[in-house]
Amino acid sequence: MTSIAFLGLGTMGRGMVGNLVQAGHDVTVWNRNPERAADLDGVTVAGSIAEAVAGRDVVLYCLADDAAVEAVVFAPGGVLESVGTDTVVADLSTISVGLSDRETAAFAERGVPFLDAPVFGSKGEAAAGGLWIVVGGEAAVLDRVRPVLEALSETVHHLGAGGSGARMKLVGNLLVAAQLQALGDALTLARAAGLDLARVLDVVSVTDFRSPIFDGVGASVLVGDYSPSFALDLMLKDARLIQDLASTVGAPVPATDLVEETLVTAVERGYGNENASALIKVIAERAGVELPTA
Ligand code: NAP
Repeated sequence: MTSIAFLGLGTMGRGMVGNLVQAGHDVTVWNRNPERAADLDGVTVAGSIAEAVAGRDVVLYCLADDAAVEAVVFAPGGVLESVGTDTVVADLSTISVGLSDRETAAFAERGVPFLDAPVFGSKGEAAAGGLWIVVGGEAAVLDRVRPVLEALSETVHHLGAGGSGARMKLVGNLLVAAQLQALGDALTLARAAGLDLARVLDVVSVTDFRSPIFDGVGASVLVGDYSPSFALDLMLKDARLIQDLASTVGAPVPATDLVEETLVTAVERGYGNENASALIKVIAERAGVELPTA
C-alpha cells in the first residue's frame, strides 16, 4: 500500500481517485472547492495542500491549466513549498511546456523527485483505470511510482527527460483536435450531400480511416449529446498550448490553427462548457446544415 495525496477532483481526478482507492492505496484528497470531495468513498479529505502532501509516498495532481498549477504548486503553502524530499511528485495535468519545464527545474532544485505525466483518454477511461499516460523524467523515479500509475492506466510510456511527457501530450492532442474538426467537416458535408449520418458512421467505423474518436463522438452527434467529458474550453486551452510549442520550436501547425479558430467561435456561441465535440455544431451551423438535437 502506498500513501498518496491527490489534488484536483475534476472530471478526470475523481475517476482516478476511485481507482487508487480500489487498488488498496491510502488516499488523501484536496480540492480548491472542498464540496467536490464530499461524495468520495474511502478517502481522507485534507483541509489544505500542506496537510494533504505531508509525509506521503506520492503526490499526484490533475488540474485544469497553467493558472491552476501556479496556484496549487508554486503559490505560498503550495506543493513545492510543502512536500518532503522522500515524496515522488507527478503532474497529470495538461499544461504549457514552459510551466512544465519550470516545475521540473523547481522540484529538482528542492531535491524532490518529479515527473510530468499527462494522460490521454477522457472521463470514461479515467473512471475505468484505462488511461494512457506519457511520462517525462528520470527512469528510476518512474520505477518508484509505476505501480501507482498502472492503477490508473492501460499503458505508461516513458518519453525521456523531464518535460517530454508534456510535449508528447500536446503532440497527441494535435491529433485529437484535427480529428474533431475532420469529423465535423465530414458529417456536415455528408448531411448537405443528402447522406444518412448513421449509415455514414457505419462505413467510417469499418474502414482503414476508422478511429475510436470518430466512433465515440459520432455516436454522440447522432443523438445530439454534447455533455462534457472533455470541456470545449479545455480543448481551446490545448490548441493554444500546441500553437505556443509550435512557435517556440518553429514548426507550423496549420490544422491546429484552423481548429483554434473554430473553437473560439464555439466559445463565443456559448459552447465552452459543453464537450469539445460541440465544435462540430459550429461547422454545421456555418454550412446551414442541421444536426440531430437531444
Ligand atoms: P475539470 O473537470 O475542469 O477539473 C479541473 C480541476 O482543476 C478541478 O479540481 C478544479 O478545482 C481545479 N482548478 C481549476 N483552477 C484552479 C485553481 N486556480 N486553483 C486550484 N484548483 C483549480 O478538468 P478535467 O477535465 O478533470 O481536466 C483536468 C486536466 O486534465 C486538464 O489539464 C485537462 O486538459 C486534462 N485532461 C482532461 C481530459 C478530459 O477528457 N477531461 C483528458 C485528458 C487530459 P475546482 O473543483 O475547485 O474548480
